[in-house]
Amino acid sequence: MHNVTLIKGDGIGPSIMDAAVRVINASGVKINWEEADAGMAAFDKHGTPIPDATLTSIDKNRVVFKGPLTTPVGKGFRSINVALRQKYDLYANVRPAKNWAGTQSRYENVDIVIVRENTEGLYMGLEHFLTAQQDIATSTAVVTRKGSERIVEYAFEYARKNGRKKVTACHKANILKYTSGLFLDVAKEVAARYPDIEFDEKIIDATCMHMVMNPLQFDVVVTTNMFGDILSDLTAGLVGGLGLIAGANIGKDAALFEAVHGSAPDIAGKNIANPVAVIMAGVMMLHHLGEHSAAEQIQAATEKVVSEGIHVTPDLNPNSTSGTSQMADAIVALLQ
Ligand code: NAD
Repeated sequence: MHNVTLIKGDGIGPSIMDAAVRVINASGVKINWEEADAGMAAFDKHGTPIPDATLTSIDKNRVVFKGPLTTPVGKGFRSINVALRQKYDLYANVRPAKNWAGTQSRYENVDIVIVRENTEGLYMGLEHFLTAQQDIATSTAVVTRKGSERIVEYAFEYARKNGRKKVTACHKANILKYTSGLFLDVAKEVAARYPDIEFDEKIIDATCMHMVMNPLQFDVVVTTNMFGDILSDLTAGLVGGLGLIAGANIGKDAALFEAVHGSAPDIAGKNIANPVAVIMAGVMMLHHLGEHSAAEQIQAATEKVVSEGIHVTPDLNPNSTSGTSQMADAIVALLQ
């Protein structure tokens, strides 16, 4: 029996997380789901977006399965996603993007894994106004040798373990000579310790252009926090959209699994959100827990339902009359 902290989240979160939990339970794996609140739902209920009870649950279980959380734009509380990554030092954000049979996308055979540094850079939230009238604002990016070294090592180790051939470091060292420059120097040093894996480095703007023109040249991409956030939405777009892409947030002694997408307020409450991204986050979590067979069964069942294109949400087939719960039913039926 595994103990997992379950945060259903905001917007489409509760419906897709219910679907994913049903699918995971149907695989026969034994999980004691400990439900906890966070985000806007927690703020409305408890007056705080991250109640102590939630932190106590994570402290104990060290594995979190999390739905998307709404973060107020431009004001209000800071992102709870960022706060959790920092508090539990979940330094490696791994976001694989691969084509799915039966889905429409611009390319075939895309298979890119973004490995994003998850605790440093501009997302540290070191922001303030420089003037009383709040017309000049500043934000500080922090890049450390230790933080750069461990994320680049993670990317190379990931490449080795998963039979990957190449790691590309993305940076902006031509302009950000100290922060991005340090990251690039460390990436080159680490790369020299992995002669069996090809190493390449690219400036972030050129990376975006190359990725859109010819994504097949990319394998594992390692980069700093904000570039990784943006690139992983780009790779999601290359393989059919945000409804399919999951991410793992990995630290030394805790891990959190979630979709790349957010709480999608525009489609919340309509039973049309695609549950595949959180189901694939569940697959990543099961591998992390050593439940490889259950993970493979769920992945195969999900791939079958997606490739048939019948019991799928409208983002995958605009003619489909199935919604989130019907898609989950179809995957569950294959697992029983
Ligand atoms: P979003 O990812 O929620 O939505 C972007 C677009 O993709 C929308 O059109 C949405 O309908 C669509 N979409 C997203 N998930 C989908 C799914 N499963 N099935 C079908 N379509 C889907 O991004 P946003 O609208 O910019 O952000 C909404 C909120 O989510 C914000 O508060 C943001 O801060 C938050 N957010 C949270 C996380 C997280 O919890 N890890 C990640 C990103 C954004």
